[in-house]
Amino acid sequence: MSIQVTLISHSEDPMRSLYMAYRTCYSQLTPQQVLKRIGDDRITDAEMKHFIEERLKTGHASPLEQVSFEFAISGVSRAFSHQFVRHRVGISFEQQSQRYVTYKDGEFPYTVPETVRKAGLADEMAGHFREVGELYEKMVAAGVPAEDARFLLPNATNTNFKITVNFQALLHICDLRLCTRAQWEFRKVAALMRSEVMKAVPELGKYLQPKCGELRMGYCDESEKDWEACPIGRVRPHKDALFRLYDSYRKGELAPLRAEDWDTIEEKESAEAAEPY
Ligand SMILES: Cc1cc2nc3c(=O)[nH]c(=O)nc-3n(C[C@H](O)[C@H](O)[C@H](O)COP(=O)(O)OP(=O)(O)OC[C@H]3O[C@@H](n4cnc5c(N)ncnc54)[C@H](O)[C@@H]3O)c2cc1C
Repeated sequence: MSIQVTLISHSEDPMRSLYMAYRTCYSQLTPQQVLKRIGDDRITDAEMKHFIEERLKTGHASPLEQVSFEFAISGVSRAFSHQFVRHRVGISFEQQSQRYVTYKDGEFPYTVPETVRKAGLADEMAGHFREVGELYEKMVAAGVPAEDARFLLPNATNTNFKITVNFQALLHICDLRLCTRAQWEFRKVAALMRSEVMKAVPELGKYLQPKCGELRMGYCDESEKDWEACPIGRVRPHKDALFRLYDSYRKGELAPLRAEDWDTIEEKESAEAAEPY
């Protein structure tokens, strides 16, 4: 079963909601007056977009909680779902139950990681799960309730979600779970959620980045060892490098600009080359 992520719906006009949330804080106008000005185009879409982008550069994050997205997520493993439901704030989950859903004939859908396939162990995994399914079916037939027969089931077993998440929580989830340090399946789900939001509200979707993204922190705060191992680490500075740079600057220990740097700045070579003319 493959992972599927569908954006079911979102706040009616996310940019208007966000603009109004921010504007209410910074304006003498009442929110009703702001709404009227949006309605008769005295406040244009371009102005709203610019204002929101400027606010997003600040740490004023609570207005982002006023925009929400609803997703259907299916074909994910229980290994993924254990991690997903650890997010506690700004997200509501409903998940397929293993108490109320009994797998028919002991056949449960599951995920085979690519690494298992590459190791040539997918068939062995399937054989093992077939035996698990047979025993599950035997238990159910013997009157064991699904909530107890499920004790046999592996982390690979698939599950489904219907969730609602606000934009601030989604940004946080993407900060962590689009990072190359996150587990591949969670990274995939986060990337699919991002792609769905990009289609519907690209002005907001673009902010869904790993925390080192240019629209998020812009640097890496994982360990230096992990930063070195990250396939995109080289294009993002590590936070320790920034602190070292700042420390050298504070202590007046930064290497001074060299004579050749000044030549470049003053365009000495090109000025000399230009003399004959
Ligand atoms: C790469 C990676 C590896 C991980 N490894 C492990 C692991 O080995 N073992 C493990 O158990 N978990 C692990 N986790 C899960 C992690 O510990 C968190 O459970 C998960 O990131 C969700 O919690 P959160 O605080 O990030 O987000 P949320 O729960 O969604 O919280 C959102 C924000 O609200 C803040 N917040 C939430 N609740 C409170 C509160 N009560 N008081 C104050 N602030 C609060 C959080 O600090 C966060 O900033 C891992 C996560 C990642 C990304």
